[in-house]
This record gives sequence, structure tokens and C-alpha cells, in this order.
Amino acid sequence: YTEEDRTEDYLFKIVLIGDSAVGKSNLLSRFARDEFYPNSKSTIGVEFQTQKIKISGKEIKAQIWDTAGQERFRAVTSAYYRGAVGALMVYDISRHETFENIGRWLNELRTHSDMNVVTILVGNKSDLKDAREVTTGEGKELAEAEGLFFIETSALDSSNVSAAFQTVVGEIYNILS
Ligand code: GDP
Ligand code: MG
Repeated sequence: YTEEDRTEDYLFKIVLIGDSAVGKSNLLSRFARDEFYPNSKSTIGVEFQTQKIKISGKEIKAQIWDTAGQERFRAVTSAYYRGAVGALMVYDISRHETFENIGRWLNELRTHSDMNVVTILVGNKSDLKDAREVTTGEGKELAEAEGLFFIETSALDSSNVSAAFQTVVGEIYNILS
């Protein structure tokens, strides 16, 4: 087989989880297409985007799933979680309530998927410095207590967006290889 065929060997399903309006869809659009939507509205139907990621010289396909706004009604179905090997658990650093709800999202993830889904806690909207309601320390502490990776991102100014996805994919790859 050719080098190109070998890249087909790795396809990781990764899910975006968290309260409505924390920036899940914009993290994905920033990562996959380098686009940001200042006034994004939730779309209809479950969607995913496939993105190629290079990890230690290997090309990996990350199939990244985004909710279609059903998280507003806590109605994310088990099909959404099925087969996921990675998760980005997102809150908004400018809305403490979205951080408080992380526990519920963790329970939901653990109910619907494998216990060993590689999960990163993502504090998004780090650009909103004056509106910050969740300290970096709080985020780190929760991540440590729950055994999650941790990062703060901004889909608006792009900071750490690639790093968040790379961390999850890299760790899944480490576990499998
Ligand atoms: P979702 O419901 O979790 O998918 O959130 P969206 O991606 O639709 O984003 C909700 C709102 O937050 C939109 O108005 C976005 O423009 C805005 N938003 C998303 N990410 C960021 C960010 O990193 N910084 C700022 N300032 N706004 C953001
Ligand atoms: Mg969305």
C-alpha cells in the first residue's frame, strides 16, 4: 500500500459538548475553516466535519461532531456520543453558570460513552478579559479533579484553538500506538 492509504487507518470521532452559546460551533469553524461567526445561530441536524491532523508524522482524520442546538434542551442523543474516542467539554469563561454545568455534561458523557474517552476541558472566549467570571485556576482545579486535560481558547482571536484539538487527537494516538 502507499503512504496515502495508510492515512486511512486513523479516523477518530470527537464530540463537542457544553452549554448553548459557549462557542462550540465557532471552535469547530475556526479550526476546520479558519472562520468565525460573530452572531452564529444554531443550525438544524447533527453535523460533523472531518479534519486532517498531523501527529508525529502520521496523518489522522478527526471526525468532529457538533451539536445542532439540542443541548439547549439537554436532548443530546446517545447516537451523538456513540463511538466517540475524544471530547471537548466547553464552557464560557465569561459565564460562570456554563462552568457549573460541566459536571452534568461529564455525567452525560460518561453515561453514553466509554469511560476512557480522552477529554479536554476548554474554557472558551479567553478574549473577553474584562467579563471573565471563571478564573484559570478554577478551570485547572476541576480538570485535575476529574482527570481531564485543560486549555483556555478563543475562537474569536484563534488562540489555542488548534492546540485544543491537537491535544485530544495526540493523546488518543498515544494510547493506541
Ligand atoms: P455554541 O452554541 O456553543 O455552538 O456557540 P456558538 O459557536 O454558536 O457561539 C455563540 C456566540 O458566542 C456567537 O455569537 C459567537 O460569535 C460567540 N463566540 C464564540 N466563540 C467566541 C470567542 O472565543 N470569543 C467571543 N468573544 N465570542 C465567541
Ligand atoms: Mg452550536
